Amino acid sequence: SSAVTKSTKIVLNLESLGSLPADEAGPLARYASTIQAQRHDYNGKVLSIRAEDLKSLAIIYDMSPDELTTRLIEWGVLSPGADGSIYADVD
Ligand code: C2E
Ligand code: C2E
Ligand code: C2E
Repeated sequence: SSAVTKSTKIVLNLESLGSLPADEAGPLARYASTIQAQRHDYNGKVLSIRAEDLKSLAIIYDMSPDELTTRLIEWGVLSPGADGSIYADVD
């Protein structure tokens, strides 16, 4: 049931993230901005983050990692992998 968060690379769509209401996406947007600053990686349309970071974000959002993954897909923030596999195990 948690195959998505265990096996799938987390790739955030920064354009979608930037267009979400701040009260929903705020903590995630700040987290992503911090990672971009640490890497000096400012020009990407997407940002690959650590699986460990998803666990930290889930705590921030008071959800399980799977619940947060589902929410990120609903928000259009989680880009599918090259093979679209991110969608395979949802539900
Ligand atoms: P790209 O920058 O041309 O990288 C193509 C592929 O080279 C990546 O596919 C990955 O397999 C490998 N690669 C590039 N840089 C690194 C690296 O620092 N470490 C490792 N281990 N592999 C690297 P991938 O991951 O599927 O990414 C596809 C494209 O998505 C990338 O093309 C890039 O345009 C974008 N992208 C993905 N993650 C990020 C990110 O965190 N920041 C930015 N700016 N772009 C990203
Ligand atoms: P660090 O964790 O000590 O990592 C040092 C360097 O090792 C990184 O420099 C990067 O070149 C490489 N590195 C470490 N783990 C990975 C990985 O899973 N994949 C890839 N492709 N490279 C890895 P970089 O990118 O300049 O990052 C500097 C520091 O910024 C990192 O030091 C870490 O403290 C923080 N950071 C950067 N990106 C992330 C992230 O996605 N999540 C977290 N939690 N911290 C990050
Ligand atoms: P990736 O670079 O293709 O790395 C895939 C996995 O290999 C990482 O999954 C991690 O488990 C392991 N790995 C790669 N490099 C290192 C390393 O230097 N130290 C350690 N301890 N493990 C490493 P993870 O952590 O889920 O990261 C997923 C993706 O997030 C990475 O794919 C990379 O695109 C990005 N990323 C994570 N941390 C950093 C970082 O510090 N700097 C940069 N530039 N990218 C990072």
